[in-house]
Amino acid sequence: MEKIKMTTPLVEMDGDEMTRIIWKMIKDILILPYVDLKSEYYDLGLEYRNETDDKVTFDSAYATKKYGVAVKCATITPNADRMTEYNLKEMWKSPNGTIRAILDGTVFRAPIIVKGITPYIPTWTKPITIARHAYGDVYKNTEMQVPEGSKCELVCTDKDGNEIRQTIHEFDGSAGIIQGLHNIDKSISSFARCCFNYALDTKQDIWFATKDTISKKYDHRFKDIFNEIFAAEYKEKFDAAGIEYFYTLIDDAVARVVRSEGGYIWACKNYDGDVMSDMVATAYGSLAMMTSVLVSPDGTYEYEAAHGTVQRHYYKHLKGEETSTNSVATLFAWTGALRKRGELDGLDDLCAFADKLEKATIKTIEDGTMTGDLYLLSSLENKKKVNTEDFLLAVNENLKAML
Ligand code: NAP
Ligand code: MG
Repeated sequence: MEKIKMTTPLVEMDGDEMTRIIWKMIKDILILPYVDLKSEYYDLGLEYRNETDDKVTFDSAYATKKYGVAVKCATITPNADRMTEYNLKEMWKSPNGTIRAILDGTVFRAPIIVKGITPYIPTWTKPITIARHAYGDVYKNTEMQVPEGSKCELVCTDKDGNEIRQTIHEFDGSAGIIQGLHNIDKSISSFARCCFNYALDTKQDIWFATKDTISKKYDHRFKDIFNEIFAAEYKEKFDAAGIEYFYTLIDDAVARVVRSEGGYIWACKNYDGDVMSDMVATAYGSLAMMTSVLVSPDGTYEYEAAHGTVQRHYYKHLKGEETSTNSVATLFAWTGALRKRGELDGLDDLCAFADKLEKATIKTIEDGTMTGDLYLLSSLENKKKVNTEDFLLAVNENLKAML
């Protein structure tokens, strides 16, 4: 078979530990034999980040802006232990944080659903994709513990020096706590556009919810911005695509999500997204089956797995012990990026290859061959646990039969 040709490179961001091992296996076994891969390679492994004073992370993000599509391996976010382990010059920032700030994007997380693994909410037969606003609110707050007798006010000084004051609370009879939050229209607007674009891109309805009945200015501003942008820029496109934008109160949203069958995007404010994404991921069964894509408002896409570098498995691997690490989310990051490259460049055979590789992966698991994490969860009777590499080799057998 002749290898599938690519026209534009995709940005390849290599990473750390067990996922770095898996990265190479995926490429060697499932990509390079079939695709004449054009990629611009950036090594985001911690050693090279340290060597380049983290410049490589910035460069990879700028390259993503340039080419429009990236695939990223999980990376270590250094902490005190890693400073000693890797003899770091500095405690470098989270690469994901750096890339997100440069691309000004929104992260969409969606589970990969397979027969035999029933979500804890069994009616969830389709994926629920969570989109989390990644700027402001309680994550950039100012807070104080205040003594009894304090009068606390909210003061805003405009650019002409005029002050607007409102009392938050007079602490008569008890000490207490206060907190100042903010968000900016520009970021909320970017978030809204990312969400509407992604809904159109994936042909799914989108839900958004806040507590606007209680927070009549703050949360209401989110609701208004979403509504205005939808009406002005997306209503007609949504009608044409046969999808819907649905706004409701956060309490109502939670109740509807639990009763739903899935199959939509749930856009969440920063804190709601933090909490709900962990709940949704857990309910679907396994973090190793969760994909993640960072989408910017101008339409660049960075695909990755939602899990980390699986450090515990890596240390086993280093000791020469066999591992059974799940490669599915990392593999789907690759298929997501290849498909998007194919869509943008009009390469139907590249899109078809990505589809078949995903089908071959799901078929492998549904036929009973899986890694240890899924083996523990699966209700299949004929299930078999395999090691990290044998799983990918089994996917390759199914893939060959489909090509
Ligand atoms: P983790 O790598 O997600 O792994 C936590 C545990 O979840 C593993 O020990 C394993 O459980 C299970 N697990 C996760 N992915 C799995 C997979 N593909 N197959 C099988 N089991 C899987 O989180 P962590 O150990 O807390 O973090 C390790 C490093 O990853 C940290 O340095 C952190 O900074 C980094 N991290 C990076 C990203 C990213 O780049 N996006 C995200 C999160 C964390 P068992 O041990 O029970 O088998
Ligand atoms: Mg969380």
